[in-house]
Amino acid sequence: MNAWTDWAARQLDEISSAGRWRATRSFDAHGPAGDLGGRPVVSFASNDYLGLSSHPAVAAAAHAAIDRWGTGSTASRLVVGTRPCHDELEDAIAEWKGTERAVVYPTGYAANLGVMSVLGGTDVTVFSDELNHASIIDGCRLGRSAVKIYPHCDVDRLDAMLGSETGGDSGRRTVVVTDGVFSMDGDEAPIGPLATVCDRHGALLVIDEAHSVLSPSVPVPNASAVIRVGTLSKALGALGGWVAASSAFADLLVNRSRPYIFTTALPPADAAAALAALEIVRSPEGHALVSRLRSMVERLVPGHPSPIVPLVLGDEARALDAAAALLEHGILVPAIRPPTVPVGSSRLRITVSAGHSDEMLDRLVHGLDELGLR
Ligand code: PMP
Repeated sequence: MNAWTDWAARQLDEISSAGRWRATRSFDAHGPAGDLGGRPVVSFASNDYLGLSSHPAVAAAAHAAIDRWGTGSTASRLVVGTRPCHDELEDAIAEWKGTERAVVYPTGYAANLGVMSVLGGTDVTVFSDELNHASIIDGCRLGRSAVKIYPHCDVDRLDAMLGSETGGDSGRRTVVVTDGVFSMDGDEAPIGPLATVCDRHGALLVIDEAHSVLSPSVPVPNASAVIRVGTLSKALGALGGWVAASSAFADLLVNRSRPYIFTTALPPADAAAALAALEIVRSPEGHALVSRLRSMVERLVPGHPSPIVPLVLGDEARALDAAAALLEHGILVPAIRPPTVPVGSSRLRITVSAGHSDEMLDRLVHGLDELGLR
């Protein structure tokens, strides 16, 4: 064995003996019901919160885009990768979020890398919630900023940390970045108080709204000092990411952000699908889907603010056993373990969708009750 093969084998041994082996499994499905390794299951694992990934109008828009522009976008956005549907989508997102402009990326992950790297620099300190998504963490690294982690949603602590950073004339620029809804806990960031604190200290606020399907965008005191980031791949049922900001920030992203410049543009089918999905979200049909989703979450955990419902079980083995037991009932719920969540907080992560039928939700509730998990 050469040294590299030897090294790879040792790494894999380490993963496996820590009980952290991961592998993909193929789910043959259209919507939440499908076949997992020969077993019919209903999934409560996707981020298809409004069921739009299988909406006929969204699918028709993707088909029409392929017929008109082909499958690939064939180049990066700044070369010849931009189609009319990219421009229309960006205009629609800007209008939806009430900003001057929006910029679309190939994924939400790339959007966070793009924003955090462009804002960052050695003269910048980023204050980041301890439970922020990996793409924010990676974006901070790419930007070479100093990063200070504040305790989860702790606005008072953040206020004090910003105070000691911006006191005197350090000349440093400051950014506060937070998930709007946290991806593994399903709780909401206190956007209003965060915005007030940012305003007081002259910090820019970046909010990742990837999971904010039930949370309206909170108006903030100084809207020009807020950048919103999100994804087309969850509630909008497609693929891609977006950043909604002022014209100046949008132009900076287009001119400076490497995850925008040095990668092929989002395929036209995804841009067109996301645009059709956004039209639905903003229509009475979309409002009805959101109300349905809200009432489904309410049935599961009254008062919970998002469709991400964690059942924290602690031990990794307990979470894995619970997921396996639910699978026996034909219910697919992932067990989330370290390193995705802190040690001792392994959990089931249930995600509910307006695309689930009432019978599907009944099945989940009965399965959880039978296993004593509720
Ligand atoms: N931000 C958050 C909070 C997320 O949960 C995710 C995806 N899990 C992303 C960004 C990345 O989005 P995408 O999947 O579109 O790359």
